[in-house]
Amino acid sequence: AVVVRHRMRSSGRWAKAAAIVKDLEEKCGTPIGKLRQVADAMAVEMHAGLASEGGSKLKMIISFVDNLPTGDEKGLFYALDLGGTNFRVLRVQLGGKDNRVAKQEFEEVSIPPHLMVGTSDALFDFIADALKKFVDTEGEDSHLSPGRQRELGFTFSFPVKQSSIAAGTLIKWTKGFSIEDAVGQDVVGELTKAMERVGLDMRVAALVNDTIGTLAGGRYDNPDVIAAVILGTGTNAAYVERAHAIPKWHGLLPKSGDMVINMEWGNFRSSHLPLTEFDQAMDVESLNPGEQIFEKVISGMYLGEILRRVLCSMAEEAAFFWTPDMSAMHHDTSSDLKVVGTKLKDILEISNTSLKTRKLIVELCDIICIRGARLSAAGILGILKKLGRDTVREGEKAEIRYSVGRWAHSNDGSGVGAALLAASHSLYLEVDDS
Ligand code: BGC
Ligand code: MG
Repeated sequence: AVVVRHRMRSSGRWAKAAAIVKDLEEKCGTPIGKLRQVADAMAVEMHAGLASEGGSKLKMIISFVDNLPTGDEKGLFYALDLGGTNFRVLRVQLGGKDNRVAKQEFEEVSIPPHLMVGTSDALFDFIADALKKFVDTEGEDSHLSPGRQRELGFTFSFPVKQSSIAAGTLIKWTKGFSIEDAVGQDVVGELTKAMERVGLDMRVAALVNDTIGTLAGGRYDNPDVIAAVILGTGTNAAYVERAHAIPKWHGLLPKSGDMVINMEWGNFRSSHLPLTEFDQAMDVESLNPGEQIFEKVISGMYLGEILRRVLCSMAEEAAFFWTPDMSAMHHDTSSDLKVVGTKLKDILEISNTSLKTRKLIVELCDIICIRGARLSAAGILGILKKLGRDTVREGEKAEIRYSVGRWAHSNDGSGVGAALLAASHSLYLEVDDS
């Protein structure tokens, strides 16, 4: 086949490439009507997930966080943020109303890839070990009251069925993690055992998803914050729900009347999502086929892979990249290797120096990223619809823009948020009552 393809004329290639781009653009289209359908479907699934356990692809997990930070939190707290290819350890000195986050130190450690697919003990030992080393750097100026056990807010960014503020079992892994023996285990138990193994005396005061940590950090900075969305390696959202609007909650009605919900919206799927053959092929070959479909069209772990698949298909179908050129060079029998000369130039062109090629690739990136961005905006609109807070004055377009416009950007607030929640669930409540 290569022999045939390498004879495809350059103009033919570009025509074929343009056709592939156009086709992709159509299939990835997110006109406003489709976004509305996605937002509506999201709101419907939210209701279903709140109604009963397993009532929807959206888990709508009860976080046991019924109070968000107020600013009164005081004391020295640790946080551990695990969820992507890196994890972070943090030490936060909370100074109450007047001093807020008085001091904050952190360290970032990358997770060796083999630990992401190994055993639970190996992963947690590695984490506990890094945490211990970090705790050992605690300075004299860190005001830990004498005789007091250190406390930790644990941000664990995977779906966890919480049974209390500081306990919960792992439902499944996402984002390239796959550690079979951890599924179904209490992740606080796993971490606590590992801390004991490395000789670190610390109590997990709060176990939270990164969306919950981000929401807590957001509320600390701005009392009007009601939801948080993560658009990173994975994607997810959490928001403040009215406890009486959660039929599956059989516990006491919290004093605040509120309960924070971890939606796990990455697992949302709907016939309204514009999916292509590239998405389908990627899903089938992923670590979690059939799962996290919304995540797979939105988040950082997958967008590059979609682009790679589109480019591969261009190489195949439009004889676009170097394989045919290589074949032509290989078969060059002329004494002065004239074909090789011209092909080398072509190849250089193809390997991103030609403006035309670069433009084409940028166009593909746009198509894939705009789809993800618009779908995440539709998800946000879905939350606002569920809460009955989606009304706007202007026209339809404003609606979607509005839903994103009111979202503040918080960079890595989930760790501090977890420390704040550890503070409000501390055994040594030390709030600012001045
Ligand atoms: C996980 C969520 C997490 C999100 C963002 C998803 O893959 O299921 O728990 O919040 O990634 O980190
Ligand atoms: Mg994160």
